Amino acid sequence: MEPKYYRIEEILSPKFDGKQVKIRGWVYRQRNSKKIAFIVIRDGTGILQCTAKSSNFDEKKFEEICGIRYESSIIVGGIIKSDDRAPNGYEMQMNEFIIIHQAEPFPISKDQSEAFLLDHRHLWIRSQKLTSSFRVKAALIEGARAYFKEQGYWEMFPPIITGSSCEGGSTLFEIKYFGKPAYLSQSAQLYLETLIFAHKRVYSLTPSFRAEKSRTTRHLAEYWHLEAEAAFVDLDGIIKFEDGLVTAMIHHAAKEVPYDLQQLGRDPKELLEIKAPFERIRYDEAVERIQKKGVEIEWGEDFGTHHERALTEDLSSPIHVTHFPRDIKAFYMKTLDGKYAECNDLLAPEGYGEIIGSSQREDDIDNIIFNLKRDGSKIEDYEWYLDLRRFGSVPHSGFGLGIERLLRWIGKLDHIRDTIAYPRVMNRNTP
Ligand code: ATP
Ligand code: MG
Repeated sequence: MEPKYYRIEEILSPKFDGKQVKIRGWVYRQRNSKKIAFIVIRDGTGILQCTAKSSNFDEKKFEEICGIRYESSIIVGGIIKSDDRAPNGYEMQMNEFIIIHQAEPFPISKDQSEAFLLDHRHLWIRSQKLTSSFRVKAALIEGARAYFKEQGYWEMFPPIITGSSCEGGSTLFEIKYFGKPAYLSQSAQLYLETLIFAHKRVYSLTPSFRAEKSRTTRHLAEYWHLEAEAAFVDLDGIIKFEDGLVTAMIHHAAKEVPYDLQQLGRDPKELLEIKAPFERIRYDEAVERIQKKGVEIEWGEDFGTHHERALTEDLSSPIHVTHFPRDIKAFYMKTLDGKYAECNDLLAPEGYGEIIGSSQREDDIDNIIFNLKRDGSKIEDYEWYLDLRRFGSVPHSGFGLGIERLLRWIGKLDHIRDTIAYPRVMNRNTP
């Protein structure tokens, strides 16, 4: 019979004090003196300090323990002891040690350049910071799915290969589709809109692709986009929904992965204090606030990173900016008084910037055609979309949330690349 291997997370409990167990994992830290060796083992569920006394092993085995390299895969056996000096309150007194694979000298050590770490991303993803970041991400998504379900939304699976653009031509990735041009999806929105007529409330989580040519700390060329559309919901209704969703996501993470949040420097208690509804201000007022901060902006300009930072750096909760001028917004947003769009951006606090783009959708077919012409789009490419306004059109709203943007704020990450295992940016698509 195969011996039972325990997970580190399950043995960190008084129940295991004094018990003999076996663990499989990787060498995270190692140091030794003549008489004693310490190995910190990492198994994907936690880390555990293991102490090997030379008197417990024959000479050859003790040499093996002392010679083990970082990131080697090993099996250790021993007795679990509660110990206040150990990082998580427990340590193993080792009496068994088996090498599964002795690693070559690990190329990553302290103080390596960002370019080197990106070249070795496939190894660097084992780091504590990235491990914690990806766990917080998983918890955020778990929280979102539960909230959508509770609110009666169906998960949908829209296409990634598309024939037309949603967010404008300048950031479209073109591909060859059986010899003809096609595009990678920038947003699932238009397809989700078609699906509300069957399901009323829908959402999807898909990669979105944007050929972002400027180097910023918050743009990826491939990111995970959480989008929703709902029939019979107006701007106020969709804003309320977004408040509920974001709160549910961050509270779920605070409860599920408090340790990982702490590793990233975020106090989970701080997140639990964030409560809906979030503040709402109109674009006009936002422009005034930005100007008062001494940052230049004119009415009619879209917000850049520095504008959003000026607006949010002193806040501790997210804020909605509503009613941007219609002329700087997408063709599908509902027009109000011919001047504004019935839309909102949700901005993260602490200067992190936009996490949601959202609007009530235009249900007047003539206004949509007017906007498409304004943008120089071909009407015939959008005939299928215009059909939605011909067959049972209803008031409806929706939004897109960038998962990595939300995580960057929650995880206090300086750069968006640390929110995703293999960041795709202008000058890199490997490994
Ligand atoms: P920005 O002004 O920051 O470029 P946007 O107005 O282009 O954002 P939308 O088209 O409204 O963004 O997309 C919806 C959401 O998708 C954004 O609120 C953001 O969270 C996310 N998002 C957009 N572009 C990117 C990107 N290049 N990388 C990561 N997330 C993105
Ligand atoms: Mg953009």
